[in-house]
Amino acid sequence: MKIHEYQAKELLGRYGVAVQAGSVAHTADEAAEAASQMKAESGADLFVVKAQIHAGGRGKGGGVKLARGVDEVREKADAMLGMMLKTHQTGPEGQKVRKVLIAEAIDIAKEFYVGVTLDRVRSMPVIMVSTEGGVEIEKVAEETPEKIIKTWVDPMIGLQRSQVSALAFGLGFEGPAIKQAAKFIAAVYHAYEETDCSLAEINPLVLTEQGDVLAIDAKINIDDNALYRHPDIAELRDVHEEDPLEVEAAEHHLNYIKLDGDVGCMVNGAGLAMATMDIIKLAGFEPANFLDVGGGANPTTVEAGFRIILKDEGVKAILVNIFGGIVRCDRVAKGVVEAASKVQMTIPLIVRLQGTNAEEGKAILDESGLKVETAILFQEAADKVQAALS
Ligand code: GDP
Ligand code: MN
Repeated sequence: MKIHEYQAKELLGRYGVAVQAGSVAHTADEAAEAASQMKAESGADLFVVKAQIHAGGRGKGGGVKLARGVDEVREKADAMLGMMLKTHQTGPEGQKVRKVLIAEAIDIAKEFYVGVTLDRVRSMPVIMVSTEGGVEIEKVAEETPEKIIKTWVDPMIGLQRSQVSALAFGLGFEGPAIKQAAKFIAAVYHAYEETDCSLAEINPLVLTEQGDVLAIDAKINIDDNALYRHPDIAELRDVHEEDPLEVEAAEHHLNYIKLDGDVGCMVNGAGLAMATMDIIKLAGFEPANFLDVGGGANPTTVEAGFRIILKDEGVKAILVNIFGGIVRCDRVAKGVVEAASKVQMTIPLIVRLQGTNAEEGKAILDESGLKVETAILFQEAADKVQAALS
């Protein structure tokens, strides 16, 4: 699960990570109010107005603006709220801005990058830092990988002081800032570990003109499988930022990921779903989604699956691929017949059943009167998809 920058900063702050002060606003008035409060407290008069969407690259897209004085904060927030912000991480239509973060502008001397994620090859969290902050880290990794310093943390031993010092030193910090940078990196790591993050990324971490070290931006993704341990973090979910079809699928306990192709698929089991997507590609088409109905291929889940797939306007045909292991194919076939007659199936439907009672299942579909193509072999199914779409 992703959370917003303002939420990530607040969360990191709780773990002792130094972050830029700020306050979230839903309206231009709230933005002005936040700025005047900060002005009263710290004397700040230069602010940053930042669009809160679950995507990076906001700066380049016009989602990060400096504003001098309370009135300018109100103006910039007013212009930003409601806009469709396009960045390299949003779709081409952009993402609607519903909240802005008003932060005290920082005098930046230098920008750095700090990230923690799981290295699946080494089975250990990896801390990555770079002097190339404020730019896309993917670009740095591609073009100048030597500018990224990595340290792996053995979870059985934990993060060592010497590791953190080496990273702070490697970034070229000097004098009292070394200690601040080391404390910062250690605090980000501990926040990552304690909150079950899949990613904690600070880009940029800055050294201010005054010599302090703090986070200007923060991105945190939480491992969905660990969310039950953090009910307070689970509450930070913002469904506006998520694909509505994926939200609906999650309500039905379906594993659905929207893709951009033309063949919708419904499969039981993640491995078979991947293989199904492969065969769609081999047939010369693109999968419109990944959908794993899991062990429960019953009429209700199949119907929910059909409805979700059909809402995707790019879908031109549906391939159902079920392996009857624990679930019997004849039961699945009945479920498909029931579901397909409830939803208005206006596009070709191809169903491949294999495993327990596959022949019986195929017969049920063939005799149902539904407009459906059936198959037992994987290749047969792919051929029928091809025939239906050409
Ligand atoms: P992103 O584009 O979505 O990653 O948004 P960031 O929060 O990282 O901001 C983008 C860039 O705007 C940063 O790399 C900074 O160069 C600049 N910026 C953001 N906040 C401030 C600030 O308080 N002061 C100054 N001088 N620049 C800022
Ligand atoms: Mn950033």
